[in-house]
Amino acid sequence: MTYETALAAPVDATTDDVRIGISACLLGHEVRMNGGHCRKPWLTEVLGAHATFVPVCPEVGMGLPVPRPVMRLVAPPSEQADRTPRMVVTDTGEDLTDQIESWSAAKLDELARADLHGFVLKKDSPSCGVFRVKVYDHNGSPSDRGSGRFAAALVRRFPHLPVEEEGRLNDRDLRENFLVRVWASARWRRYLRDDGGAAGLMRFHAQHKYALLATAPGVHQELGRLVGSAGRDELAEVQTTYEARLMEALANRSTRGRHVNVMQHLLGFVKEHLTGADKENLERQLRLYRNGSVPRSVPIALVRHLLLSHDAPPWAREQVYLQPFDETLHVNEAL
Ligand code: SF4
Repeated sequence: MTYETALAAPVDATTDDVRIGISACLLGHEVRMNGGHCRKPWLTEVLGAHATFVPVCPEVGMGLPVPRPVMRLVAPPSEQADRTPRMVVTDTGEDLTDQIESWSAAKLDELARADLHGFVLKKDSPSCGVFRVKVYDHNGSPSDRGSGRFAAALVRRFPHLPVEEEGRLNDRDLRENFLVRVWASARWRRYLRDDGGAAGLMRFHAQHKYALLATAPGVHQELGRLVGSAGRDELAEVQTTYEARLMEALANRSTRGRHVNVMQHLLGFVKEHLTGADKENLERQLRLYRNGSVPRSVPIALVRHLLLSHDAPPWAREQVYLQPFDETLHVNEAL
């Protein structure tokens, strides 16, 4: 199969089958320690219109009441070999670590069957926080940072699952990056489910060329060699490695300058057809994107329009990069 024929099937970014795990309190479930919630309208109303949420509350799931005593992460005693912070009730010192660990193990078995494509977790929680959750010493002073016990177990079990905290999703670039990864994960799962063959893998890789060039340029070639070995090596092993490297590469934080380069590269396929007005409009949109005034979806929509209207070759027109997720998903709206 040639590179061009690998692209014969059109890209479908509007997959109807995106499933995202989420801390239940972010959806408005009143499960927090104080009996309240912390609903985020962008999640419930914008992202929720494009994905099915699978809500999880580890603390209620493991049998704790609502409301319940405050808990926090505490550094283990110095003589303990396992240096992972413990989850402890602040007032009484009761250690709930074993309880949440065994509940998490069973829950993660269940979530493996739910075939999730991403997970959004509540920041700062001793159960759900992923990054920089306060860890206290035995004098009650914050002395370190760590991950909540459920979040840590989730990341260990599904190392390539796109995982974000709701607070970090306030950053538009992180939000776009998360959505790109979630939709890539959904497309990958759909390829495995509906096709799963070597030719389909080549097509998948061809369609993700510019998405990879924008985030990890060296990985596109590396994965190209891997895909080329699919006829010789065990296909299942190739697919496992491909998924891992793809998701690692897409998680890289790229720069706006590199994205502008990728868009300009794509436009090279139709540059002789662009009018003065096209170029002027394009320059303006790229400038606004470069200075952070508009999300990447704005110049990308223009690039896509120009490639389609000037009949660019299929390998350019059908890049996932041009429509990494459903275009009606408005990344620019406030949380
Ligand atoms: S942060 Fe996690 S454990 Fe705490 S209320 Fe929300 S879902 Fe439950």
